Amino acid sequence: TQSLLGRVQAQADLGAFLHVNEETALAAAAAADAARATGTAGALTGVPIAHKDIFVTKDAPTTAGSKILDGYRSPFDATVVARLGAGADGVTGAGMVMLGKLNCDEFAMGSANTNSAYGVVKNPWNRERVPGGSSGGSAAAVAARLVPAATGTDTGGSIRQPASFTGITGIKPTYGVCSRYGMIAYASSLDQAGPMARSAEDCALLLSAMSGFDSRDATSAQRPAQDFHAQMLAPRTGASADKPLAGLRVGLPKEFFPAALAADVNGVVRAALAELEKLGATLVEVSLPRTELAIPVYYIIAPAEASSNLSRFDGVKFGHRAAQYTDLLDMYKKSRSEAFGTEVKRRIMTGTYVLSHGYYDAYYLQAQKLRRMIADDFQQVFQQCDVIAGPVAPTVAWPLNGHSTDPLADYLADIFTLPASLAGLPGMSVPAGFGAEGLPVGVQLIGNYFQEGTLLHTAHAFQ
Ligand code: GLN
Repeated sequence: TQSLLGRVQAQADLGAFLHVNEETALAAAAAADAARATGTAGALTGVPIAHKDIFVTKDAPTTAGSKILDGYRSPFDATVVARLGAGADGVTGAGMVMLGKLNCDEFAMGSANTNSAYGVVKNPWNRERVPGGSSGGSAAAVAARLVPAATGTDTGGSIRQPASFTGITGIKPTYGVCSRYGMIAYASSLDQAGPMARSAEDCALLLSAMSGFDSRDATSAQRPAQDFHAQMLAPRTGASADKPLAGLRVGLPKEFFPAALAADVNGVVRAALAELEKLGATLVEVSLPRTELAIPVYYIIAPAEASSNLSRFDGVKFGHRAAQYTDLLDMYKKSRSEAFGTEVKRRIMTGTYVLSHGYYDAYYLQAQKLRRMIADDFQQVFQQCDVIAGPVAPTVAWPLNGHSTDPLADYLADIFTLPASLAGLPGMSVPAGFGAEGLPVGVQLIGNYFQEGTLLHTAHAFQ
């Protein structure tokens, strides 16, 4: 803990950390030492971690990357934070040591961490490149070895895409596996927490600790606790030492390899697929015909939910309130206008529009129908294969400067991560190699519902 606190300070120019809490970190580390001495320590006890600043924490401020939550302090820990850390009422903690909070796009809206009100995050592989988003601080902190692990959230790709851009491993579990209690809501029907770390093995340990049913989240999956590490290690029937993936059918959706896919990314992903084949897997071509539609569907549903979720930030209950106003409405208006960033305002307006009378049927309802069809397409495909593989993003990390004047360009780059999000399926990014200018490229694995174990097993065999 002490040595990493030093690294965090030395690498402050990365912009990964928004808040460091040295005092509580050192106290938690001492508690971990005591647990070790009494033989009550688990695999994660005393291991440093940092949390995306979208999880509320009582030992550190929480901003969600927004000015509107400037100065906000939660009286409780998010369930995921409590489970990984010291625990809370009715929740056992793994005893990890929280070093602090990590930068992210404002309310997790973005793909480059350039939408944070607290500055950009640099990609440790090349400080002139973005780390990806919205969990950009988490990805950069793990990639720069400031922490061995971090939490992230993924609504439409925010764990997988930054993991790919920074050469780390990240998994978004099936919707409902990790509690959303205390995770500031962006689009509630899509938001999922997950771990970001160096390897599938670390992710398996973290996911086992952070997941599980939580009665405080109405969409939490009612399933017994899972040992993802054991699932990751469990050999496949018919597997051997040099063919650990024998019998595994890997589906390659042809829509995931369009002409617009950058040649370097295509090359790295194809090499990874060849490697899976060498490990015993069989590759099968499949089709997800509505892949392109995932973009408009997601960018209707997510803003619709966001416009509703963000109505709670009204200058009364949390954070920023305008200094001067004439009446209540004026206070709402001024507080929100002053403290929300451009992208958040754009989404609130889009979301309000698609939900409004006269447009609801044309946009929101249509999007919901298509969302169902996209989920059904996956079920068809999972009759032909056990996991789906493809790229995470169409390109490597893009330049920090001269980018993001066009929000549509960012939206289009989400094409390969949005489908699994809309279907609520687990997806992960596994480092696969390097593309242009030595920048990391991840391969994406998508599984059927609750098949995190299969994803982790495949990734572990590959790593
Ligand atoms: N890039 C997507 C968006 O801006 C996904 C973000 C996320 O997964 N939080 O909404």
